[in-house]
Amino acid sequence: MSHDRRELGGRRLAPETLMMGFGYDPALSEGAIKPPLFQSSTFVFRSAEDGKRFFEIAYGLRKQEPDEALGLIYSRINNPNLEILEDRLAVWEDAERALVFSSGMAAISTSVLAMSRPGDTVLYTAPAYGGTEYLFDRILPRMGVQTRSIGAGCSNDQMDAAVREAHGVAAEKGGRLAVIYIETPANPTNQMVDIAAARASAEAVGGKERPVVLVDNTFLGPLWQKPLALGADLALYSLTKYVGGHSDLIAGACLGSGELVAKVGEMRTICGSMADPHTAWLLTRSLETLHLRMQAAQAGAETVTAWLAEHPKVAATLAPGDGDAAQQELFARQCQGRGSTFSLRLKGGETEAFRFLNALRLFKLAVSLGGTESLASHPSSTTHSDYSEAAKARCGIGPDLVRLSVGVENPDDLIADLEQALAAV
Ligand SMILES: *Cc1c(COP(=O)(O)O)cnc(C)c1O
Repeated sequence: MSHDRRELGGRRLAPETLMMGFGYDPALSEGAIKPPLFQSSTFVFRSAEDGKRFFEIAYGLRKQEPDEALGLIYSRINNPNLEILEDRLAVWEDAERALVFSSGMAAISTSVLAMSRPGDTVLYTAPAYGGTEYLFDRILPRMGVQTRSIGAGCSNDQMDAAVREAHGVAAEKGGRLAVIYIETPANPTNQMVDIAAARASAEAVGGKERPVVLVDNTFLGPLWQKPLALGADLALYSLTKYVGGHSDLIAGACLGSGELVAKVGEMRTICGSMADPHTAWLLTRSLETLHLRMQAAQAGAETVTAWLAEHPKVAATLAPGDGDAAQQELFARQCQGRGSTFSLRLKGGETEAFRFLNALRLFKLAVSLGGTESLASHPSSTTHSDYSEAAKARCGIGPDLVRLSVGVENPDDLIADLEQALAAV
């Protein structure tokens, strides 16, 4: 079967099937069943004419012919391992194009830089990932890009009002509301934001240059939430988490339409924020088991949360879709699963939380999530420690809050670990 076919006998092949071979032609690599690692900085042109043609396309000096592929040039611009990975990653969200980056933050910062210019405004949902908030609060303003936030878990009316206000204030000063940036579910509280409603608000203030909607899909993607299908313009990922899945690499991605991703690609080529070939090779391998890992982790998390919710020392568990009726309805409309990262509130405060964390044996005490092994962390003293007390209170990040990322271990073993750790509280 051809390596770029998505159908067989009229049947559309599922992503998990395509992860085994899509985008790779063994005949180009001595018949190797798996893509070799192209650990090469540069690529030899067959002729001077080829070099000229490739650069004309890479630098946008002329339009690419419909059946003309961009030849390999230099690994900051393109590399076979990156291209195979990008083609496969795009399959999961049915995206026209994907780009991979050296980290989730590289994907986020390169994409936001590509979408904004001085005088623009970025509206984002808070809490967002720590590095993202740092970019928005401290770095973008230095470059003349203003930022505003709105609380995750906001109603659609609140989102719409925030979009109109940000658009109005920016327009008065001759700028634009350029980006609506959404992280859903929000970390660590798992409040959800309505992606389709944000897109509708962006179109309502619209015009020709409406704000683009960017969604960080690290927590539930690509299996349990598909932002592009819901109206997002770009879906962003830390591939470090579920997609890499083995806690052994750092990488990121940006998915979307060919036109928009090309703008991000220009910025990536010049900033040099692409992934390296070895990381791309590891990720291509990870993609073969992505669905198995995410399904197993989700099933384990369901067993673990059900047990925790009944425990007398646990005040509450916070998973995507928990919360009021609006949040439940949104979850049902927007997501296909809860994933395996959730938080719990212990009865007590930091003392109780620390006793619990220090007593855990199978759960390892580390930030990050989405790996095969289970992890536990204390957001208020680590990932969110630079929040003011007021911001922590507003976002629901108390000293009693513990975040768990459930891996693919036997869930009953994990429960045994939680049971003995709760006994030590
Ligand atoms: C980890 C993470 C990031 C940053 O990704 P890196 O790969 O660490 O740069 C961004 N967003 C979310 C939601 C994350 O969990």
